[in-house]
Amino acid sequence: MGGEAHQPDAGLLHKRDEIASLMLTTRSMSSGQHVVTRFAPSPTGFLHIGGARTALFNWMFARRHGGKYLLRIEDTDRARSTQEAIDAILAGLAWLGLDTDEPPLFQSTRAARHQQAAHEMIKRGGAFRCYATDAEVEALRNEARAEGRAMRSPYRSGDIPATDRPFVVRLKAPDDDVVNSDLVQGDVRIRGRDIDDLILLRSDGTPTYMLAVVVDDHDMGVTHVIRGDDHLTNAARQIAIYSAAGWDAPRFAHIPLIHGPDGAKLSKRHGALGVEAYRDEMGYLPEGLAAYLIRLGWSPGHDDILSKEEAAEVFDLSRVVKAPARLDFNKLANVNAHFLKRADDARLAGLTRDFIAANKPDWTIPPAAPEKIRAAIPILKQRSKTIAELAEMSFFFLASRPLQLDAAAQKALTGEARARLQRLHPRLQAHAAWDASALAAELKDFVAAEGVGMGQLGPPLRAALSGGAPAPDLGQALALLGREEALARLEDQF
Ligand code: GLU
Repeated sequence: MGGEAHQPDAGLLHKRDEIASLMLTTRSMSSGQHVVTRFAPSPTGFLHIGGARTALFNWMFARRHGGKYLLRIEDTDRARSTQEAIDAILAGLAWLGLDTDEPPLFQSTRAARHQQAAHEMIKRGGAFRCYATDAEVEALRNEARAEGRAMRSPYRSGDIPATDRPFVVRLKAPDDDVVNSDLVQGDVRIRGRDIDDLILLRSDGTPTYMLAVVVDDHDMGVTHVIRGDDHLTNAARQIAIYSAAGWDAPRFAHIPLIHGPDGAKLSKRHGALGVEAYRDEMGYLPEGLAAYLIRLGWSPGHDDILSKEEAAEVFDLSRVVKAPARLDFNKLANVNAHFLKRADDARLAGLTRDFIAANKPDWTIPPAAPEKIRAAIPILKQRSKTIAELAEMSFFFLASRPLQLDAAAQKALTGEARARLQRLHPRLQAHAAWDASALAAELKDFVAAEGVGMGQLGPPLRAALSGGAPAPDLGQALALLGREEALARLEDQF
C-alpha cells in the first residue's frame, strides 16, 4: 500500500472485503512456516529481569515450534551503548542458558543496509525526501496537533521539486487504519491519521531506530516479535514501514511488563537489578531464576515447577496473561529451592565457595574449607533456598575456635546450661562413629535422663556449636563439625 490512495469501488465491494482491503494487517502464519524469534536488547545497561523474561519467551517459542531464536544487539545509539553493557547482556543470557541459533547481530554494523532499504522505499513510493526546515516541521506539527491528527509533510506527494537543502527521509504514513493482530493483546487498531510521517533517515543519513528494527527483523527472517508492551505503539508504525517496503510484517506479541511486589512498575526502588545481581548477590541458580521468570505472566495451566526446557515443550502465547506480572521474591526463592535440592553437590560447593569469596571478605576461611563445604552440601541444600543461604549456613563450621558468640548465644549459655553441656560431653565423646542420627538420638536420651525438655538443651548446645550463626539441626550440626571440633567447641564453654 505504501500510502497510495486506496480507491475501492464501493459499489462493487462487499463491506467486509472493503474493510479488509483498507487495513494493513500483520501476516498470518501459514502452517509450514519456519518460526524465527529474536531478543533485541539495547545495550545501555545490564540485562534486567524483564529483558531476561522476554528472551526466555522468545527462546521457548522458537524451541516449541522447532524454529530459530536469534539475538540482535541494538547498539545504534552509540552515545548510550557501552561495551560493558554488551558484555553484561551476553554473560547474563549465557548464564541463563539461552543459546542462540546464530551469532548475535550488531545493529550498528548495518547502517548501509538500512539506508539502502530506505532508498528502496522512496523508489516504491512508500517513503520520500523531506526538505522541511526545523521551523517548518514545528509549524506542521502545531497545525496537525490543532487538527487532532499526526504530522504530514508537504513533501510526501513528491510534487515539490528537490533542492540542495538538506533532507531527511520520511515514511509516507498510511491513510488507512493499521491493525496489529497482536498474539497477546488481540487486535490493536491505530488510525492512519495518528501515524506521522516519521523519519527513517536523518539529515546526516543515519537510520532511525524505527527503520533499523524493521529492516533487521525482515532481513533476519523474524516471524514473531515477542517483546514488552512498552513497544505496543511502535508496532503500528513498524507495520506501516513494512508496508512501505513491500514486506510482510511479522506477528507481534506484546507481553505485559513486570511490576514490583507492591504492584508499581518495576524500578530501581524495587532493586530492579541486572541478572548478575540475582546470581552474584542473591545467589540464585540460573535454572531457578529462569523457571520463575517463565511463570511471570505465563502459565501452563497447573502449578508444577517446570524447567525452561520442559516449559518450552508446552509454551503457548495464548496463555500469556494480559495483566502485569508481579515480582514475588518468596516464590522465586521457593522455585530456586526446588532446583537447589536437585543440583549437583560438587557444583553447589563451587558456587558456595565463589559466593563466600565474593561476598564475605571478613570471613577467615580455613585451608580445609573446600572439603568441608563439599561434605556439608547434601545436608545444607535440603534446607537452603539460595547459594547465599548455603554460604550463610556454612559459616558455623568454617569459623575457627574460640567462636565469637552473638548476644543470643551468650544469653543461652547460663551457668546451669554450661554445666549441662559438661555432663553431655562424655556421652557424646563415647560416639566413635559420629553419625548424625545416632547423635540426635543421644541428645534425646540425655534430656530424658536430665529430666528436662529439649528446650533446655537445644539453645545452649546450638550456641556452643555455632556461636549463634545459622546451622542445621543439632545432630547434623554435630556431624558436620566432626567429632574433634564439636567436642572442643563444647569444652570451650566449660
Ligand atoms: N531494543 C529495544 C529495547 O531494548 C527492543 C526492540 C524490540 O524488541 O523491537 O527495548
